[in-house]
Amino acid sequence: MQEKTIFQKIIDRDIPATIVYEDEFSIAFLDIFPVAKGHLLVVPKKPYAWITDMPDGELGALWASVKRIMIAQKKALNAHLVQVNIVGDQVPHAHIHLVPRHSGANYGDLTTHVQYEPGEAQMYAEKIIASL
Ligand code: AMP
Repeated sequence: MQEKTIFQKIIDRDIPATIVYEDEFSIAFLDIFPVAKGHLLVVPKKPYAWITDMPDGELGALWASVKRIMIAQKKALNAHLVQVNIVGDQVPHAHIHLVPRHSGANYGDLTTHVQYEPGEAQMYAEKIIASL
């Protein structure tokens, strides 16, 4: 059997994550190394390596979740917009980055990271959950 990806371990609750959303096909949780506070990853529950490996129906369901979460994130965090990125350089389990951005953000900068104060990540998660 293939070794589980870090995201599969989160899905299976082998390791913790700050989960904000879950349905039959997808899960969303805070990125552990965010480029902005409230940065989420939306992940299909099945371990496709790339979104291009996903059947169209499952891909459609994933994007429907992305849309719903983006709307909640924008509202909850009073963001100017939610930036959508697909990278996949580090984790071979398909995922979509949703980065809340405020006015004046440098959208091209995906390498400068921010850190949560103790308890702050949970607070961000709760705000997003409350807007879903
Ligand atoms: P990439 O595969 O290049 O799209 O990047 C993978 C992303 O997953 C990075 O932004 C990491 O910070 C994030 N990441 C890695 N491990 C975890 C984890 N255990 N919980 C949350 N996010 C993670």
